[in-house]
Amino acid sequence: MKIRCPFCRKLTTWEENPWRPFCSERCKLIDLGKWASGEYRIESEEKEKKEEEEGGKPE
Ligand SMILES: [Zn+2]
Repeated sequence: MKIRCPFCRKLTTWEENPWRPFCSERCKLIDLGKWASGEYRIESEEKEKKEEEEGGKPE
């Protein structure tokens, strides 16, 4: 089965791939590192905050 690495979009195989669904250790570590460092979370929190500010009436 052929899959695409969710990080770099390179074609790789599912079978005998220790880094699946990634193509390599590097892609897996970078992607996991992003979650661990909270990069995605911080981004969504900032968005929520901004929407809140825009919804409130300024005094
Ligand atoms: Zn990759």
